[in-house]
Amino acid sequence: MNDEFKTLQKFDAGNGREGFFHSLPELETQGVGKISRLPISIRIVLESVLRNCEGKKVRGKDVETLARWDAKKPANEEIPFVVARIVLQDFTGVPLVVDLAAMRSAVKRLGGDPKIIEPLVPVDLVVDHSVQVDFFGSAQALRLNLEMEFKRNRERYQFLKWGQQAFKTFQLIPPGIGIVHQVNLEYLAKGVLSQKSEVGGQRSEIFYPDTLVGTDSHTTMINGLGVVGWGVGGIEAEAGMLGQPVYFLTPEVVGVHLSGRLKEGVTATDLVLHITQMLRAQKVVGKFVEFYGEGAASLPVPDRATIGNMSPEYGATIGYFPVDQESVNYLRATGRSDEQCAAFENYFRAQKMFGMPRKGEIDYSIDLELDLGHVQPGVAGPKRPQDRINLPDLGQTFRSLLQKPVTDGGYGKENVDLAAKHLVQLNGSAPQNGDMPGIDPGEELNKAEMVTNRPTPDPAKDLKGADPFRHGESKIGHGSVLIAAITSCTNTSNPSVMLAAGLLAKKAVERGMRVDPAVKTSLAPGSRVVSDYLTKTGLQSYLDQLGFNLVGYGCTTCIGNSGPLHPKIEKAIHDYDLVAASVLSGNRNFEARIHQNIKANFLMSPPLVVAFALAGRVDLDLTKEPIGKDKDGEETFLRDLWPSLKEVRDAMQSALTPEVFRRLYRDFANQNPKWNEIPSSTGDIYQWDEKSDYIHEPPFFKDFSMEVGKIQNIVGARALGIFGDSVTTDHISPAGAIKASSPAGQYLISRGIKPEDFNSYGSRRGNDLVMTRGTFANVRIKNLMVPGTEGGVTKYYGPSTGPAASTSGDQMSIYDAAMKYQKDNVPLVILAGHEYGTGSSRDWAAKGTRLLGVKAVIAASFERIHRSNLVGMGVLPLQFSEGTNGQTLNLDGSEIFSITGLSDSIEPGKAVTLEIRRRNGERDSVPVRLRIDTPIEIDYYRHGGILQFVLRQLLAKA
Ligand code: SF4
Repeated sequence: MNDEFKTLQKFDAGNGREGFFHSLPELETQGVGKISRLPISIRIVLESVLRNCEGKKVRGKDVETLARWDAKKPANEEIPFVVARIVLQDFTGVPLVVDLAAMRSAVKRLGGDPKIIEPLVPVDLVVDHSVQVDFFGSAQALRLNLEMEFKRNRERYQFLKWGQQAFKTFQLIPPGIGIVHQVNLEYLAKGVLSQKSEVGGQRSEIFYPDTLVGTDSHTTMINGLGVVGWGVGGIEAEAGMLGQPVYFLTPEVVGVHLSGRLKEGVTATDLVLHITQMLRAQKVVGKFVEFYGEGAASLPVPDRATIGNMSPEYGATIGYFPVDQESVNYLRATGRSDEQCAAFENYFRAQKMFGMPRKGEIDYSIDLELDLGHVQPGVAGPKRPQDRINLPDLGQTFRSLLQKPVTDGGYGKENVDLAAKHLVQLNGSAPQNGDMPGIDPGEELNKAEMVTNRPTPDPAKDLKGADPFRHGESKIGHGSVLIAAITSCTNTSNPSVMLAAGLLAKKAVERGMRVDPAVKTSLAPGSRVVSDYLTKTGLQSYLDQLGFNLVGYGCTTCIGNSGPLHPKIEKAIHDYDLVAASVLSGNRNFEARIHQNIKANFLMSPPLVVAFALAGRVDLDLTKEPIGKDKDGEETFLRDLWPSLKEVRDAMQSALTPEVFRRLYRDFANQNPKWNEIPSSTGDIYQWDEKSDYIHEPPFFKDFSMEVGKIQNIVGARALGIFGDSVTTDHISPAGAIKASSPAGQYLISRGIKPEDFNSYGSRRGNDLVMTRGTFANVRIKNLMVPGTEGGVTKYYGPSTGPAASTSGDQMSIYDAAMKYQKDNVPLVILAGHEYGTGSSRDWAAKGTRLLGVKAVIAASFERIHRSNLVGMGVLPLQFSEGTNGQTLNLDGSEIFSITGLSDSIEPGKAVTLEIRRRNGERDSVPVRLRIDTPIEIDYYRHGGILQFVLRQLLAKA
């Protein structure tokens, strides 16, 4: 056990257990820093740095730098953060399990024991992102949607099922159980973890805080329980999984002092939308946010989790609540053992981190205030989560946006009759192949990423004529609500808002109110606990009567899997160019995320979702205008239906017990018959199936041996692309549609797959043959080697031996050129401007670059995570001096490049030389800086990447 600072101490872990911990108070006593003034979130990271300090990956200097964190001027240093565990969702998790499987195959080929490949920290993968709302408004919806999900995802699920039995530290939560962050909150999170280790020659138990990263941006939901964690890209998660640190820059910490109490009628959703608007305006991007004060103490953990969930929407890395009695109460109420609860509380007490801090006790970089009593009921939209609208102003705001010019963020409907309504007869007709796009979840998306090639299954046809739509007659126009979805772990994890939705539905049904058949209603909770309490309280039956039947336990509408609308509705939207609305309890709403044809999307609490479904429109003031009429023709208002705080509390007390959580989170792997029906291979080694176009063994370990070559200069390289500024990870590795004419599209066609079955790049991330062909294939990328073009094209100049190319090069796809160069063993480079690799972290942006044969990327500057991902994949990042780039050097791509100064010995930040040989024989030498930033990265690079580094370490130990 590392104990470089001699801080290991004993403590009473409760229930008669004696534990050890790395004491932060002791570190302060040693004069290393004024730790008791640090934000709690920083202290938790510091504990990890202290505990993992072994001199190389994590150094004493790292401990000292963080312990001396200066609130007003944090050091500009990267922190090596070794996390306690990893959570994955199915879309982003598949490629990680593919890499583990490939490592096992490599070990087997070397004659070793494949079982040495295990995640070194616990990994939990929750299958939640694939279910789509094909069926709704009926008691059969859950079963039918699940059937469709299994039809669509069979190959991926077969593979995951193999992974489930092959790895001991990998737990898989099958489809139909819940949503990753809610499952994490209700079941996976432990608050404090422990490990057996030697202390003073004795086998002892060392305790440490629960920390994690997850491959989904809303991982921050767990911050509500006092757990530090956030969303990362695949390669960082892979590093964490293999016991390597996740690096991040020392953050500023914004302290938000909460005072007062929420008023009657104001929900946790109203609060989070208020906070999102407030913190967006304060520009907290890249910062930690920590909530504290008596107002924070008054919030139950589900409310805190709702606020933590939306950190990506307000831009913060985390939205953290320190651990206090409420946190322990939550663990207990959700069925965690007494032993676990006692260890959690005692550990944080021993670290002097227990209890909600009060004003003045902690130094924050920026201090903000929020009186909870000032929060008003509201919604956010129609395009961004930070655009909050007070509930009374919604109708007016929507009408004015309708008429505002498009250039001012409006819908440009100047001279039209805004009140016109159009009759649609919703009779039984099959949907066109209208699956909502398979989106690339867990990452910031933009419209360009939306998928246009849709998976083929046709619910009506595939499920023996089952009808996915409600029938009847309706009139729709601008502002009509066409989707009303109680969705997203943001809110479904919060019993108070879910019960409020049920209570509102009950009052509406009792008054004989109904939802218009044009509204696609759905309820998709993040765990089965929700169904249990909605059923026990009798509220589910009222929700059912309004069409909010259970459609699945997964992300559904929150991630854009809202499924098709009735074709006649889609036609009316199209024919009359309608600005129709969705209302949902999700967290993002940019145009086309929720549904391609719905332009106005409003985020709101679950009870408001039900209320707007009943109203059927958003162009009204629900605080003054009636929602509709009751069975006697009397006008009914929101105030008539809104449940009181007492009603919600009473329902909560009668329904939530720890036993329910224990029962529903026990043995869930066997509670899903469909999952059990999936045939899957068993054994330690995955039997790669050459017929699969979703899962393929990546060639990262082809020709792998224990021998580590010397770092060599890169000689005789060709340019594969020269790019300008702000090339994003989506330019490098698109997530959306696969064009039929692209190399990936042509490849799939050659495999007998029709374009309508292409699915998205995102869904084929387990197949390197598709993803490598997709690298630099974004239809918008501009390669300056081929001026005037867009898309993944380049010029091929032939082998680089002998004189520089005399021709003007052959134009071809980047993939084809890369393969031709690979055949001749020609190394490749990419040249780029500022902020190369900006946008959300995406593992395939670095993996694809490597598999194309690119040895170095030389850019004016790099996005932080993409730079480290390149090193992680064994690609050298180099930075031009200020003012230099491909254009200032007059490069057109016909040159031959060499990078010298690498073979002597390298160290972080070393100056090396880029040598350029031009077509006319001229030569230039340009200084460039190695953007290998830390000693451990030198090891990663020398080994050819992080996977190879870890694999050799494991093989050496075996
Ligand atoms: S429900 Fe929404 S926020 Fe939650 S994991 Fe799914 S996509 Fe992310």
